[in-house]
Amino acid sequence: MIPISRPYTDQEELQEIEKVLKSGWLGLGSVVQEFEKEIEKYLGSGYVIAVNTGTSALHIALDAAGIGKGDEVIVPSLTFCAGIEAILATGATPVFCDIEVDTLNIDIDDVETKITSKTKAIMPVHYCGNPCEMDRLLKLGRQKNILIVEDAAHAFGSIYKGKKIGSFGDITCFSFDPIKNITCGEGGAVVVHNDDLADVIRKKRNLGIDREAWSRYHGKKPWYYEVTVMGYRYHMSNINAAIGLVQLKRLEQFIKRKREIVKRYNEAFSGIKGIALLKWNLNEIAPFSYMMRITNGKRDELIDYLGEHGIGSGVHYIPNHLQPLFKSDAQSLPITEYVWKEIITLPLFFEMKDEEADFVIDTILNFLK
Ligand SMILES: *Cc1c(COP(=O)(O)O)cnc(C)c1O
Repeated sequence: MIPISRPYTDQEELQEIEKVLKSGWLGLGSVVQEFEKEIEKYLGSGYVIAVNTGTSALHIALDAAGIGKGDEVIVPSLTFCAGIEAILATGATPVFCDIEVDTLNIDIDDVETKITSKTKAIMPVHYCGNPCEMDRLLKLGRQKNILIVEDAAHAFGSIYKGKKIGSFGDITCFSFDPIKNITCGEGGAVVVHNDDLADVIRKKRNLGIDREAWSRYHGKKPWYYEVTVMGYRYHMSNINAAIGLVQLKRLEQFIKRKREIVKRYNEAFSGIKGIALLKWNLNEIAPFSYMMRITNGKRDELIDYLGEHGIGSGVHYIPNHLQPLFKSDAQSLPITEYVWKEIITLPLFFEMKDEEADFVIDTILNFLK
């Protein structure tokens, strides 16, 4: 079976995990701090706070920004349900918006029609690693006093107009779950550019415990702490950070190989009747996954056919405004509602061989014949 995705790890990750286990300090500690520093160096700008999942990164970011009951957050419906549940967890209301058909990214024209006096944040998703129009979003946010909280779960390593995603903007949230551009096993990070906000997030990730409080006693009572804000148990552990540190060194290699496979798919599928490709700027995108559209109405059949031939594929994602939990008073979103019936996610991972990609390609072309 060729899976949709598979993380790459080897002996090096094992060695680093072993070091942490032998150190006796498994939880939040110096390895997490080192991981944060390395990401800060990689991005070149911003304060990085490592957390235990991408979902908690989104939740803690909104929470620390003061978003809650009575507030609205505009979010594309076509995204992982994590973003929606993070918004709901703060007490705020998700307001679903539509997407652009060629990138599956947020449709900013539609966003503008959904802004109300209650809108406090917009949560764009950089689909498949392809950055949204950040200049326009950030400008809109500044004009209307609305925060842009990027769900950059797909986009660690992607570049927008020469700048790394996360190195600019208001708040950027990354995921390091097993299938993301790099993994910590499970993990996430929030990047901000304001040290007060960074401090709040750092406290909130560990139950609001203020580690600085003891210093007011001039170190005489090192056991002393104060709980100053409501928080969560969202911190990253040294074990996960150890994996992430090795993965970070592999990132450029991962990006290079995945770009090659995307190029191979794009070349084989371009101009084929029944297939519509997404727009890819492969000089800048760190490709998270490979998605395209099957426009002849046979997407579901194709998924079955690929399965019969030992090829994994899937649909990312089922629109959230159609989900039983979220659909309450959602309006219709025309692009999302037809595009989700056409999208298919194909295998894409670092260790994938050219022959495997060719087998996926040939199987799809055979099906469409
Ligand atoms: C993976 C993902 C998340 C959540 O990240 P986890 O680390 O799995 O919690 C959020 N949004 C999108 C778009 C994702 O793909």
